Amino acid sequence: MSLDQVRHLEQRFGSGVYPQRDLLIVRGLGAVLWDEKGRAYLDMGANYGVANVGHCHPKVVAAITQQAQRLIYVSPTFLNDQRALMLQRLASTMPAGSGLVRAFPCNSGAEANEAAVKFAVAATGRTGLVAAKRSYHGRTLAALGLTFNPKYRSVVRDLIPKVTHVTYDDPEALKGAVSKETALVILEPLQGEGGIHVASAEYLRTARDLCIDHGALLAFDEVQCGLGRTGRMWACEHAKVSPDLLSLSKSIAGGLPMGALMMTEQVAAAMPKTGHGSTFSGNPLTAAAALAVLDVLEHDHLIEHAAHEGAHLLFSLRRLADELPIGREGRGMGLMCALELRKKCSPYLNALVGAGIIALPAGATVIRFLPPLVISREQLDEAIGALERVLRSEVSESGGDAEG
Ligand SMILES: *Cc1c(COP(=O)(O)O)cnc(C)c1O
Repeated sequence: MSLDQVRHLEQRFGSGVYPQRDLLIVRGLGAVLWDEKGRAYLDMGANYGVANVGHCHPKVVAAITQQAQRLIYVSPTFLNDQRALMLQRLASTMPAGSGLVRAFPCNSGAEANEAAVKFAVAATGRTGLVAAKRSYHGRTLAALGLTFNPKYRSVVRDLIPKVTHVTYDDPEALKGAVSKETALVILEPLQGEGGIHVASAEYLRTARDLCIDHGALLAFDEVQCGLGRTGRMWACEHAKVSPDLLSLSKSIAGGLPMGALMMTEQVAAAMPKTGHGSTFSGNPLTAAAALAVLDVLEHDHLIEHAAHEGAHLLFSLRRLADELPIGREGRGMGLMCALELRKKCSPYLNALVGAGIIALPAGATVIRFLPPLVISREQLDEAIGALERVLRSEVSESGGDAEG
C-alpha cells in the first residue's frame, strides 16, 4: 500500500485521537525501522520505550512463533505453563529484599496503575491518592486521575478520582500531603513524559518512610524507566528504595501488549478472590514473549550496555547543552535521556526525521531519547551527530506538534 492510501484509511476510519507523523512504517529490526520505500530510520525513542530489546528480536520472534503454534490463549482461570514460568521469572527480577514476589499481569501500563489503585484501596481501607506534578500514569480513569497533565484530564474531569498532586522531588511537599487517609503514593523514580526528571535518592527514601509512618502504600511506576533502561533492572535500585507496588509494561513482551503490577504477599492477601481480573491477564502468548525478553536482557548483557552507552549519550547531550546557544540542559540516567532546548522542539524533531532519526518530545521544549538497549555506539553517534547538525542549522517553524 502507498503512503497516501494508508493515510487516507487511518484518517477516515481511526478515532482521530492520535497526532500522527506522516511516516508509514512497515518493518523493523534492532534499533532500525523502515518505511514502505525501504528508507531506514534510527528509532531513538524505541517507539515510546517499547522496543528495549530492539524491534523483532529473533529470540522474541521465535518464542512468539513457537507458542502461537501450541496455544495462543487460555483464560487465567486455568493453569498454564508459560504463565507460571513468567510469574516466577518476573518475581526473580525484583529488587533484592523488596518482597515484590506476586504479580497481577495485565495488558498495559494504565491497567497496571489501575490495579495499583484498587489493590492499595483494598489493602488500606482508605481512598486518599497522592501523585506528583508532571506525572504520567496512563489514560484510563483512575490512571488518569494520577496523571497530572490537565490537557489529558480535562475531557472527563468530573469522572476521575480526586488525587493530590505534589511538586516532584520535593520531600517537604510530600510530607504535607501524606496522612492517615492516604491509601497510595505513586511516583515515577524517573519521570518520562513529564520531561525526563530524575528523583533524588533522598526523595524516594522520604516517600518510603512517610508511607510506613502513615500506613499508606508506596507504588513506583516503572512502566517507562524499568526493565534495564536506566542501567539497572529497576530504576528504584539506584536509590536502594523498594516500594510495596511496582507497575511495569511497555517493553516487557517485546511489543505485544502486556503490563503487570508487582506486589508484596501482604498486599496480595488483602484483595478478595474475584476482586480484580482481566480476560487476557497472563495469556500464554505474551507470557512466552516476556520470558524471551527477560532472557535477552540477561544473556545479551543489555542492562550493563544501557549503563555504559547511556553515560556516553548523557555526556554528549550535556556537551551540546553547553556548546549550543539553543541548548538549556542535558539530563537523564542510562538510556533514558533528554536535551531541553530554549525553543520549541517540534521543528527540530521534524528535521531529525528528515535526517533519518526518530526522537521523541517530552513536553514542548524537551527532546527525549529512549533508544533500544541494543543500540550500538556507532548508531548513537550517528544520532548525536544528526542532532548537532539540526540544532546548528536554521529549521522552519512549520509542521505539526508531535505528541508527548
Ligand atoms: C506509557 C506510560 C504509562 C501508560 O502506559 P499505557 O500502556 O499507554 O497505558 C504509564 N506510566 C508511565 C510512566 C508511562 O510511561
